[in-house]
Amino acid sequence: MPRPTLAAYEAALRAHPAFPPGLDRWWPGRTRLQVLVSAMLAQNTSWANVARAMAALRAAGRLSQAGLESLDETELGRLIRSSGCWRQKARRLRALLRWLREEHGGSLRRLFRQPTAEVRRQLLAREGIGEETADAMLLFAGGHASFVVDAYTRRIFARHQLPLDRAWISAELPPSPRRYRHWHAWMVETAKRYCRKRQPDCAACPLRPLLPEAQPRLRPARTPSRRAPKPHARRSRAGVRAGQPL
Ligand code: SF4
Repeated sequence: MPRPTLAAYEAALRAHPAFPPGLDRWWPGRTRLQVLVSAMLAQNTSWANVARAMAALRAAGRLSQAGLESLDETELGRLIRSSGCWRQKARRLRALLRWLREEHGGSLRRLFRQPTAEVRRQLLAREGIGEETADAMLLFAGGHASFVVDAYTRRIFARHQLPLDRAWISAELPPSPRRYRHWHAWMVETAKRYCRKRQPDCAACPLRPLLPEAQPRLRPARTPSRRAPKPHARRSRAGVRAGQPL
């Protein structure tokens, strides 16, 4: 069977009732700065912890560029403590804001009005910003068509034997910020709901008809337990509704 196009994946995801329209507004930040800050805090933690840190910044009246810049590393670290690795994150966030001030007059508009490849290069040169974070910032804060490849996308693409090649992806999906924002939301939601690391639920997944025949046998999902989830179960960004503010 020839490899299905990404347009076929898009059609299957778009038609699925579990994925409502509006998922392109899925990153839960109200402003560009909030998207930037939350993308930095989201590394190696659950989205619920990021939401707590953002709420603490807001409650302290520091969720603005001036507010964040007025904090020293210890004060900032105390407010973002719930996001984990808070000393490191505070240092990196302050360095990012300092760089933004020195190189772009503190203006995110000025940063993001540069060509995509140039903004990406500059973001990747900042401490603590890898490809996934840079692309998320470009896409959700900057409005650039930068396809985000995270662990969920890698897992789904691998199971479907799709190449994670940017040139191929852009040829298949002509770049559009709105489209790529949908794709990121779809990948995370599909992985969380169906394409779990162990025991993927292919039978219920909207992408089942597109699964290659040569796919090595995946262990089926267990019958859902009737027991309530454990209270300490980690929540993730997938648990945050589209457009829900942080
Ligand atoms: S759950 Fe199965 S069908 Fe769905 S994306 Fe994963 S491998 Fe594909």
